[in-house]
Amino acid sequence: MLPSLTGLFSMERRKLVIIGSGPAAFTAAIYAARANLYPLLYEGFFSGPAGGQLMTTTEVENYPGFPDGITGPELMEKMRKQAERFNTTILTEDVIDVDLKASPFTIKGSATSVQADALIIATGAIARRLDVPGARDNELWQKGVSACAVCDGAAPIFRSKDLFVFGGGDSAVEEAVFLTKYARKVYLVHRRDHFRASKIMVDRAERNHKIEIIWNHVLIKVEGDHVVAGVILKDVNTGKETRHEAGGVFFAIGHDPNTAFLKGQVALEPNGYIKIQPGTTLTSVEGVFAAGDVQDHLYRQAVTAAGSGCMAALDAEEWLSEKELA
Ligand SMILES: Cc1cc2nc3c(=O)[nH]c(=O)nc-3n(C[C@H](O)[C@H](O)[C@H](O)COP(=O)(O)OP(=O)(O)OC[C@H]3O[C@@H](n4cnc5c(N)ncnc54)[C@H](O)[C@@H]3O)c2cc1C
Repeated sequence: MLPSLTGLFSMERRKLVIIGSGPAAFTAAIYAARANLYPLLYEGFFSGPAGGQLMTTTEVENYPGFPDGITGPELMEKMRKQAERFNTTILTEDVIDVDLKASPFTIKGSATSVQADALIIATGAIARRLDVPGARDNELWQKGVSACAVCDGAAPIFRSKDLFVFGGGDSAVEEAVFLTKYARKVYLVHRRDHFRASKIMVDRAERNHKIEIIWNHVLIKVEGDHVVAGVILKDVNTGKETRHEAGGVFFAIGHDPNTAFLKGQVALEPNGYIKIQPGTTLTSVEGVFAAGDVQDHLYRQAVTAAGSGCMAALDAEEWLSEKELA
C-alpha cells in the first residue's frame, strides 16, 4: 500500500485518533503520546481556527504557569509543540464524517480516512457573537467587545466602566453579576420583556444594585476609536435609537458545540453537546471519549478543557488496555 500525500497509508489503523486542536485535544495528545498510543490528531481547517477558541483572543491571564499572562495564539502554539515533541501526528484537515457503529471506527477527513480503536472528540464550541458594526474582527472585537466575561472581565480596560451584557438566559445573568465586581454599572440588555433565565438567577440580578435591566432593546452599533466608548441601542417596540457611554460589550447569547459531523453516531444533549457519563469522559459509544467545551456548557475554560483532555486520554488508555489493544 502506498502512503498518501500526508504520509499516512490509506485506511491506516491507529490505536487512538483525536479530533480537535484546542487545549482539550492537545492535552489528550500529550498524555496519549507519552503513553505510547501514537495518537493521530485532526486539527481542523475550515471547522474553526486550528488551535481553537483561544486563537481569537489576545491576553490569557488565568491559565496557570504564566504569571505575566500569555496571548491565546502563543499558548496554543506551545501546546501544539508539546504534543508534537512526543510524536503526535497532526493532520491539518477537518473530520467530515465518522462511523462509530463498527469497531475499529472509521474517521473520514477531508483528504484522509483512517481507522481507530479509540477516539477522543475535542472539537470545542463556537461562542455566538452579534454581527453589528463596530463589533466585528478588525473593529472593536477584543478591544472592549468580548464573548466571555469570566475570561476578560478582570482586564483593566473594564474597571469602573459602564459595561453592557447582551442576552436573556442564565449565562447572561451570571455574566452580568460577575462583571459587577469590576464595573461601575452593568446594563443587562434583552430583546424581549422577560428572561429565559431561571427565577433564582433573575432575582439575583434584580437584587444587585449595580445591575440595570434594559428590556426590549437590541444592539445596533458599537462605537469607539481604539476601544469601546459607546453603544447604540434600538427599542424593538418604538424603533427609537439611544446612545449610551460604554466601556465594554459582552455577548452572552450562547455557544454552538461543533458536533454536526457526528450525525446520530453518539448521543447528544438536547442543546447539541455530547452526552457523557458524569465525572468521566465516556460517551454513549464504548471506546469513544469526549473532552473540552464540546461536552461542557458550564465551565468553558481553557484549563477545564485541558483537564478533561487529560481525563479522556487516561480513560482511552484504560479502555484500550482492557481490550488488549494498547
Ligand atoms: C474570545 C474568547 C476568549 C477566551 N478567553 C479565555 C481565557 O482568557 N481563559 C480561559 O480559560 N478560557 C478562555 N476562553 C474559553 C476557551 O477558549 C475555551 O474554553 C477552550 O478553548 C475550549 O477548548 P477546547 O479544547 O474544548 O476546544 P476549542 O478551543 O473550541 O477548539 C476546538 C477546535 O477543534 C477544531 N475542530 C472543530 N471541529 C472539527 C472537525 N470536524 N475536524 C477537525 N477539527 C475540528 C477547530 O479547530 C476548533 O477550533 C475564551 C474563549 C473565547 C471565545
